[in-house]
Amino acid sequence: MFFFKLFLLSFVPSTLSHDGFNSHLLPRPLIMQYPEHTETRFEKSNEELELECTSWRFAVETNNLSPWKTIPEECGSYVKDYMMGRGYKADLERVSSEAGIYAMSLQLSGDGKDVWVFDVDETLLSNLPYYADHGYGLEIFNPVEFDKWVYRGMAPGIEPSLKLYEKVLNLGFKVFLLTGRSEKQRSITIENLTKAGFRSWDKLILRDSEDQDKPATVFKSEKRSKMVEEGYRILGNSGDQWSDLSGSSPSNHSFKLPNPIGYSLLRDPRHNKGLAFTGNERDSHYLRGLLPPVVLTHQLQEKKLMHNICQYQVPLQRYTALMELQERNERLFYKLLIDNVDELLTVVYTPTVGEACQKYGSIFFQSN
Ligand SMILES: [Mg+2]
Repeated sequence: MFFFKLFLLSFVPSTLSHDGFNSHLLPRPLIMQYPEHTETRFEKSNEELELECTSWRFAVETNNLSPWKTIPEECGSYVKDYMMGRGYKADLERVSSEAGIYAMSLQLSGDGKDVWVFDVDETLLSNLPYYADHGYGLEIFNPVEFDKWVYRGMAPGIEPSLKLYEKVLNLGFKVFLLTGRSEKQRSITIENLTKAGFRSWDKLILRDSEDQDKPATVFKSEKRSKMVEEGYRILGNSGDQWSDLSGSSPSNHSFKLPNPIGYSLLRDPRHNKGLAFTGNERDSHYLRGLLPPVVLTHQLQEKKLMHNICQYQVPLQRYTALMELQERNERLFYKLLIDNVDELLTVVYTPTVGEACQKYGSIFFQSN
């Protein structure tokens, strides 16, 4: 019954902030419209804006950026132009070409143990059509909607990656595909990859049930370590996220594909632990500098959150704060509810949820 009630809530999500609740309780619009007829208004600042957005994209690609949930609103047009224009393609071609030169420079052992690892999404397959429907990163990443897209099996192949893929196969590499997709998505992933022209891989490694809670870096590091234990030599690795390439048992040479829309651990509510990330986890996931230095247990985070929530006098504000938490840190959200069900049930169910339904249009931010 309780979870049925919680189910109702999933229709009424809310605004977000980073740790600590902000006062901006009203949502931003779901659909960001690219401004029209702004040439005159932005004529003088276009160059500056482009410079700033290029600088921001550089920080993304070099993994230097503080936590972010969406691309900067002012860079919406820039990112769209980059992704749909020549820039993204040229960057993909550059990575593929350099990786190909490197692959050809190697002397393979011929014992079938030389491996090239490829990530799947935004490395072999492009989800650009999905992002085009979701503001090119202006909307907060929604894993449920994204999974629906994955199950359509319509992601086009990334042409420069296909060239590299065929090259390393022809050179005699074993090709291992290592993806954060779920094991449940194996069939559709194979179907989609085949449709996009990818063939003859030696292993397709997906997240099993025991891997679901692992951050990408941990999951991929474990799988790479297993490859090494089995005697494989990982000579090349291609991925669009740092979590594809970093961690233990890294490749001799990693190739980072461009992806300014990509998403980080801190943006994934299923894996984000916020201040509960330990020192070691922060090191292994490159979270140093992205979080305040203090490490708080889930228990302390719970206390802090309950204190914050109790500051709100208006039930709808409490409700919005809880929805915000759900989107930011799902584990903590459910822990908080389970441990404080007496206090919070009236917030997440009757009567507050009724008011939330009535004001759905006002507090709607994105569907879960
Ligand atoms: Mg990827």
